[in-house]
This record gives sequence, C-alpha cells and structure tokens, in this order.
Amino acid sequence: MRRARRRGASSLGGLALLFAAGLALNRCAASRRDERARPALAPPASVPASPRDVSAPNASPAAPVPPASRGGALAAVAASPNVALGVPTDADPSDDVLIDERAYVVSYNPRRRVANWVSWRLDRASFGSVGRRDDFRPDPALPPELYRVTPHDYAKSGYDRGHLCPSGDRQSSPEENSLTFLMTNMHPQLHELNAGPWEKLEQWERQLARRPGAEVHVVAGPVFAEPSRTIGNGVAVPKASFKIVVELGAGEGPSAVRNETRVVAVSMPNEHGVGGRAWTDFATSVDALEAATGYDFLSAVPVEVQAAIEARVAAPR
Ligand code: MN
Ligand code: MN
Repeated sequence: MRRARRRGASSLGGLALLFAAGLALNRCAASRRDERARPALAPPASVPASPRDVSAPNASPAAPVPPASRGGALAAVAASPNVALGVPTDADPSDDVLIDERAYVVSYNPRRRVANWVSWRLDRASFGSVGRRDDFRPDPALPPELYRVTPHDYAKSGYDRGHLCPSGDRQSSPEENSLTFLMTNMHPQLHELNAGPWEKLEQWERQLARRPGAEVHVVAGPVFAEPSRTIGNGVAVPKASFKIVVELGAGEGPSAVRNETRVVAVSMPNEHGVGGRAWTDFATSVDALEAATGYDFLSAVPVEVQAAIEARVAAPR
C-alpha cells in the first residue's frame, strides 16, 4: 500500500511543480498586463473567491515584487537545500502553492489559508546573535489573486500565530530571521501548545544542530480534521501540529540516510491540556503522518530506506 501510494504521489509531484511553475508564469503574464493569459493560469476553481480578495489592501498590485527565486519557480524550489530530502507532494497538487522563501520552502494551501508544510535545513550556520524581528506580515510572494493572510486574521481568535520554521532556527542575519515572520509560515496554535511542547521540540532540534558536524532537516505543518473551524478571514484551525526531524552529518544528502539514521516524528494535539506535557509524549511514525496529511515525506530517500525509517516510532535518546 505504502509503495503504491508513493509511486502515485511521485507521479503527481511533477504536477505540483508544474502548478508552481504556472504561478511563476502567471506573475510574468500579469506583469505584461496580458489579462487574457490569466484564466488558463488562474488558481483552481476550488479556491474560494472572497470579496476581500479584491478589496483587501494587501492584495493590491502595489505589493512589492519579490526576487525571482521566491516566485515559486520550479528550479528554485526543487534545488533548495531546504528540501534536500524531497519536496513533499500529495494527491491534489491544485492546492499546493510552492514558494522558495530562501530561509525555508513553504507549500501554501490557499483553500485553508495555512501552509501544507514548511521544510528547512538547520546547522551551526543558522545561529547567531540576531534577535526576534517580530515583523509578522502578509507574504508578498503569493500571487496577487490569492488572499494574503494578515496578522489581523489571528487577532482575538484565541490562537497564537504559531511559527512552523521557528524564529530561533534563523538567526544568522536580520533578513533571515524576518522571513520566518511571513504569515505563510504561521498556523493557528493554542498558546499552551506553541509555548509548551512545540517550543521544547524546537529547542531540542537546535541543540542537535549546534553540534559540530551536524546537519538537521526538518519538515513541519498542520494536521486537519475536515471540516475545520476557521478564524479571521477563513484561516483553518488544525487539530494537530506535526514535525519530522532527520539528523545527518554536514554536507550529507538523501543518499546518506540509513536505516539507523535518527528520525523523530511527532504529532501534537492542538487541544487544551497539552501545555504541561513533554514533547516526547507525542512521538509517532512518519507513516502515520503521511496517512494523516496525505503527503509523502522524505521522498528523495531511497524507497527501501524510507520504508524502514518511516515505519518506526523513534524514541529520542
Ligand atoms: Mn495538495
Ligand atoms: Mn515518504
């Protein structure tokens, strides 16, 4: 079952990337003011058109045009070291808007208005003395026809703007740190989760990455129950937050992953009562996360090794 699903997912991977390439094309078309080119390249019909999409100031064409590498172009996403262990894909690439944010890669879901996943690499070079920028803001790299979530969407909702790629994982420069405050990197989390076991796991992954010669690969995202409740202007609230942490050595890639490689997978309920618990209480397997989210993670790792490392629930040492 797992292999069949993988094969299916990987054949659809090209579609996901084509969709991303389509968005990049769309940006070019818009810049040439060729309005007739837009319908064919427009987002799928499943993306709800909200009146605020038109009127929201942050959706205006005056938004700064990001560098080309952040436009979701195929090569820029797939070549990023932040997705060295694979670009996660699922059976429905129509709601996977891939953006290389440089500090991390995000797959943004315009239907849920929350990321499908965020992926990044972490090593000693990720750290420094830069403080939190705290400049939460809409993501200018999203195509102008998509709604851009703002900090206001989370205001008085009862949920934190929960980082997927943590601020503390990007402290090498003010620019790197600032990129973690884009709203595409946020998901609604109860404060007791965000400031509790979720943060403890962030500290643990940084501890791993600070060791000389270490390189850590992380994928994080939300898990949804359908239908989900929403906050603000249609931002879906996840039932859980997941994370996968893979420990490698400096300069190693997917072919260096072994059956013995440390792979930690967790799924933490976005529910009251989690605040005082240890992050290790929420250990699960990558297979369980793939079943819960529909995404194939670590897809660049050889299939036999994937089968071994994804089936087990690793106890952190
Ligand atoms: Mn999808
Ligand atoms: Mn996988």
